[in-house]
Amino acid sequence: MHVRFWGTRGSIATPGPGTLRFGGNTSCVEVTTNSGACFILDCGTGARQLGAALMARKPPIAATILLSHTHWDHIQGFPFFAPLFIPGNRLTVCGPEGSGKSLREVLSGQMEFTYFPVEIDQLPASITFKELGEGTHEFDGARVIAQYLHHPAMTLGYRIEADDAALVYLCDHEPFSESLWHGDSGSRDCESIVHEGDRRHALFMTGADLVIHDAQYTPEEAPSKKNWGHSNYEYAVGMAAAAGVHRLALTHHDPFHDDAFVAEIEIRARAFAASLGYPIEVRCAFEGLEIAIAPHGAGRLAHSPPAPTADRAVGPGKRILVVDDDADVRALATKALRQDGHTVSQAAGGREALALIESQVPDLLLLDLLMPEQDGLEILKILRARPDTALMPVVVLTAMDDEASTRAGFVLGATDYVTKPFSIPQLAARVRACLARNE
Ligand SMILES: [Zn+2]
Ligand SMILES: [Zn+2]
Repeated sequence: MHVRFWGTRGSIATPGPGTLRFGGNTSCVEVTTNSGACFILDCGTGARQLGAALMARKPPIAATILLSHTHWDHIQGFPFFAPLFIPGNRLTVCGPEGSGKSLREVLSGQMEFTYFPVEIDQLPASITFKELGEGTHEFDGARVIAQYLHHPAMTLGYRIEADDAALVYLCDHEPFSESLWHGDSGSRDCESIVHEGDRRHALFMTGADLVIHDAQYTPEEAPSKKNWGHSNYEYAVGMAAAAGVHRLALTHHDPFHDDAFVAEIEIRARAFAASLGYPIEVRCAFEGLEIAIAPHGAGRLAHSPPAPTADRAVGPGKRILVVDDDADVRALATKALRQDGHTVSQAAGGREALALIESQVPDLLLLDLLMPEQDGLEILKILRARPDTALMPVVVLTAMDDEASTRAGFVLGATDYVTKPFSIPQLAARVRACLARNE
């Protein structure tokens, strides 16, 4: 497997003298397998130069584009990707389902005449669109496993397994919890990760020969960027080390970070990896960086991968019950979920919630922890003990982000644990991921 970076910048293209070393183009990575299959991870502005490079090769061009999500910095290179303009080329464009519109509609939206002179229907290449859920897929002899990330949009991380090797691409992603490790264990393995989401994230990297991870911020910047959907380098290094990964490329560099700043991040990330006592090769990816991955025979994901995508699409109009004593939180959550097509009912306390669950049996419950008459953990305990609600997805919604509360929630059977304040797209994406896993 051969990897080449064509865009390493996050958020917006950042050309200029300050970004010559690490590059100013937004996310785009080319992966070529030994049998010649071509995968393109994201179509940020770096895709323009990749397209030109592909055109110099022998036609026709066939490639699978794997979009993490459809935020601008991951799709803006698509209209400028030259192979789309040549008849006979075959492109399969994949991305997460559930952005409100179909993948084709989203990509054609940025090519309407208001924004671009050529509409998507006018592209002569053969283009197939495929919306993916979490799960395992086969493309061109490679196994591609998708898993949801934590970002204020439906976003997929990808694991490409081919040639007895594995590559994992994780952009854009924010830690699920600020409490990362069990304080009592002292160890830094996957079992010591507090939040189930972060543990699932680390396990997804297990045995990978190379992990490409979002590291937009420093640990100092991260608190002021909460809910923006990105990681700091300590999180990326910590998760990769817990998963036993030996090679890590940090990417999605912040537009405000010039070359000197990114170089400093590289030094600090390497020092942090060394402080963990773990032999991990860490680098900040730059445009033009090429990495050859030799087969090592242990590339397949060890834990059982999720079911295929067809079984994991979320049908519209799920019934969701929001339980919170704070009317503002109920209103915000309701807005987020109604926008996403769900039917939402509300309860201000535990007794009211249990009565509603009796009469309505919702598809998912959003549950506050601290409520005056009966706290959320008690309700969770009751629900898990009843056969009809034992498996109901329950998303805990709480201001308590400490290790003890987070662990208590998961021990009692919470499906997910979301901390307040949350944003509307973030909550919608978390709920959608929980529903998809439950389908
Ligand atoms: Zn991005
Ligand atoms: Zn994004």
